Amino acid sequence: MNKAVLHDHLDGGLRPTTAKELAVKLNYTPLIDVDDTSKFFDRSECSSLEEYLEAFTHTIALMQSYENLVRIAFEAAEDMHNNGITLYESRYAPFFSVNEHLSPEDVLSAINTGFAEAENTFGMKCGLILCGMRHDAENVKLVEELALANSDKIIGFDIAGPELNFRPSLFSKTFKNIADAGINITIHAGEGDDVTSIQEALDNGAQRIGHGVRIIEDIDIQNNKIGKTAEYILHNKIPLEVCITSNLHTNMYETAEKHPINELIELGFQVSLNTDNRLMSNTTIKEEIEVAKIAGVKDPEELLVKSASYSFLN
Ligand SMILES: [Zn+2]
Repeated sequence: MNKAVLHDHLDGGLRPTTAKELAVKLNYTPLIDVDDTSKFFDRSECSSLEEYLEAFTHTIALMQSYENLVRIAFEAAEDMHNNGITLYESRYAPFFSVNEHLSPEDVLSAINTGFAEAENTFGMKCGLILCGMRHDAENVKLVEELALANSDKIIGFDIAGPELNFRPSLFSKTFKNIADAGINITIHAGEGDDVTSIQEALDNGAQRIGHGVRIIEDIDIQNNKIGKTAEYILHNKIPLEVCITSNLHTNMYETAEKHPINELIELGFQVSLNTDNRLMSNTTIKEEIEVAKIAGVKDPEELLVKSASYSFLN
């Protein structure tokens, strides 16, 4: 039986030991004298988004060569395999790794080489979703062009980065081109912004919603009323890529008990369980299963099995 993770950022999932080793090799000073690399990256207690995002500048600094990308992609897949995952969808904003020695195509090739190694070694399936950075229209355009020219090397397209003030409809033309090319679309929505953002994601062809948990705000449970966006998602069985620990760390919900995942499941939503940024959140999918139990989910493993049916790898 396949088990899938659908929402995991490649630059948010380096092994602490690998980060340290690569930093030493590259003489990357911010990390060299750090004793506890895991703690250095852990943003579970951080108070601002800036502090959370700062951690990525360090992982990205280590993702500037072909061989490092191969290794990081392979290890991400291996870690998923060791957690019982057979279908691994990873996502990355490829231009973070483009430099004078590395073209956008090289970045895709390196990541896919790492994944192919993992597929051959572990008998799993891996695929890459490209992320455009939504606060940078030029970047989204470049990622769109890269996706269109390499549709056989990727499994989907997404926009990531700050959701508030950067709604999906800003990129309607891009999403139309991506959909016309037959490329799968998932969109981060309903995390940093509300139901309107989720509706716009749907209007722009999202087959799945990254996070999407704020769809709960479209439902008035006490009065048994359901809004049109929630109705649409339920009726069309649009999967939500839920990442509990990540939501706690970005202060969306105070505790796992207050997270709406179980409510969403009981209301009939298609919920998948994901890791988002394993390094910054100091988590694994095994850990997320435990957190989901605390959030009231009776059978979190079942969510991973269901996720396999929502996977773009099918
Ligand atoms: Zn994400």
